[in-house]
Amino acid sequence: MNGPRIGIIGSGMAGLACARELTNRGYRPVLLDKGRGVGGRLATRRAGDGLRFDHGAQYITAETDGFKAEIDRLICEEAATAWELEDRSVFTGLPSMNALAKGLATGLDIRRETEVVALEECAGSWRVHSNDRAFEFNRLVMTVPAPQAIALLGRSHALSEAISAVRLLPCWCLMAAFSDAPKSGIRVERSRSGPFSWISREAAKPGRQEAAGSQANAYVAHASPEWSQDHLEFEKRDVERLLLELLCQQLNVDPASATHVAAHRWRFAKVSVPLGMPFLRNSNATLYLGGDWCLGARVECAWQSGQAIGKALPEPDA
Ligand SMILES: Cc1cc2nc3c(=O)[nH]c(=O)nc-3n(C[C@H](O)[C@H](O)[C@H](O)COP(=O)(O)OP(=O)(O)OC[C@H]3O[C@@H](n4cnc5c(N)ncnc54)[C@H](O)[C@@H]3O)c2cc1C
Repeated sequence: MNGPRIGIIGSGMAGLACARELTNRGYRPVLLDKGRGVGGRLATRRAGDGLRFDHGAQYITAETDGFKAEIDRLICEEAATAWELEDRSVFTGLPSMNALAKGLATGLDIRRETEVVALEECAGSWRVHSNDRAFEFNRLVMTVPAPQAIALLGRSHALSEAISAVRLLPCWCLMAAFSDAPKSGIRVERSRSGPFSWISREAAKPGRQEAAGSQANAYVAHASPEWSQDHLEFEKRDVERLLLELLCQQLNVDPASATHVAAHRWRFAKVSVPLGMPFLRNSNATLYLGGDWCLGARVECAWQSGQAIGKALPEPDA
């Protein structure tokens, strides 16, 4: 194949959507991700004893025809399923949220555990440095959260200035399992004053009913943006202790019955001030910036942004 060599930083939903669109058009993009797996915030944490926690996005909504078609394909591949949640029809990954990303990643060239630490633009192409090697690309797509894109580009870059108003809120997540706990289902806490914005028993989600043992009493609890911001720089073990106490109060469970407790900090969890357009590119169209932060705080927004970049890049032979 002739045409530019394209690199994509990030294999979350935006990077994967972009890569799939480009692959359909005859490109063979290379994705670089610092994570051990794919999916970014479409994340599932595995722990001992068969425990599994969806600690990032909980469900997805599909409002546009293109994303609905993508979800239908994932449902056919048994990587997603419908979920009647309160009064809404949403979707979740099967058997966990990360399956959605894995379904999209099939066949792509993804270099995991490859953290990009520096970028150099030279003569219209990009040299991308990871910890142990450098990659050369003619076109570079960055789908990392906006503050991380600014850190890589430098504050004085024209695109950094253009995205400096974008804001993402943090989220501390608690993953806990109990030897015994009420078999309650999903609790969505929407109070602005409460400590949690979301509490779910993992086995109450569709496709997870077969869960047995500790997984039957495995919970994910997301602290509210306000609580997370107030405790942003706390030590992880202190957050685990504080959130476990709060969760046990809510569930009416003895903290001593916890068999597993872990916290994860999402420094950039949900977009509160989006850019307002699907992506940005530099003046010579060699650098593209995208991600959920372009359009809003949802997985579908990330998909729309990545897809729009994939469509905007020129034909491989152009
Ligand atoms: C706790 C939480 C709950 C949420 N709940 C929902 C929900 O219920 N429904 C919903 O629709 N959305 C939800 N969201 C938002 C949703 O997860 C995101 O909108 C979406 O997944 C973002 O995709 P993305 O590709 O834009 O970014 P990301 O998923 O963040 O992907 C960016 C990728 O870039 C990689 N990366 C970053 N820096 C570098 C670097 N220097 N080098 C290499 N790789 C790098 C990261 O490892 C990551 O894989 C939630 C998010 C969180 C955190």
